[in-house]
Amino acid sequence: MRAEEQSRSMIDEPIVVAKRRDGKTLRIECPHCHHHHTHGTDGGSRLYLGHRLAHCAEAHLPKQLRQRRSELGYHLVDLTEVRMSEQGMSDLFSEMDKIADASRESPTWVPADDQVGFVRLIREHRPDLTREQRDDLFTLWREHDRALQQADLAAARTHMAALWEERRNLFIARKFLPRADWPDAVQHICGRIVAQHLHIERLAKRANS
Ligand SMILES: [Zn+2]
Repeated sequence: MRAEEQSRSMIDEPIVVAKRRDGKTLRIECPHCHHHHTHGTDGGSRLYLGHRLAHCAEAHLPKQLRQRRSELGYHLVDLTEVRMSEQGMSDLFSEMDKIADASRESPTWVPADDQVGFVRLIREHRPDLTREQRDDLFTLWREHDRALQQADLAAARTHMAALWEERRNLFIARKFLPRADWPDAVQHICGRIVAQHLHIERLAKRANS
């Protein structure tokens, strides 16, 4: 698994499909501790049921999550009414990721373009959804997207730190390098650092949009 994929899979605030047990209780399988939790609906009957903090038992969590136990949470979604499977939602979001990635390549991209793209996609695939259901799905996709952007940004920053380390090592090794090779080597690493800096700036702009 590549570093970026690994960080993408470790998203802190996943989207979880909730099952209603009666009018008032939601049952979910926790993505952090893999046990079942129940939550109140807070009277909500919409597709997006909001964010909840997980209440995992410390012993059920993997070691690396125990210290952050109080911050772990998820976004709850009820897909019953729209008759969509979890896989269906995930496929829809992947499709939207592709549309967003492509439109963000444009220098004239603005955050509102994402919503336009999403509405078009939903109308095409699920013309039966109400505006409210579409808005809720878009809100969830935004959360999913924000988490991906943050993960990409974190991975890019880790890569930047590795490039600086490489540059530092190059300077340490300077006296062992043939003189003729030195300017090229420095130029090469500096070029990569500049390119990575621009990449991070672009990711940060998206992540904070
Ligand atoms: Zn849990």
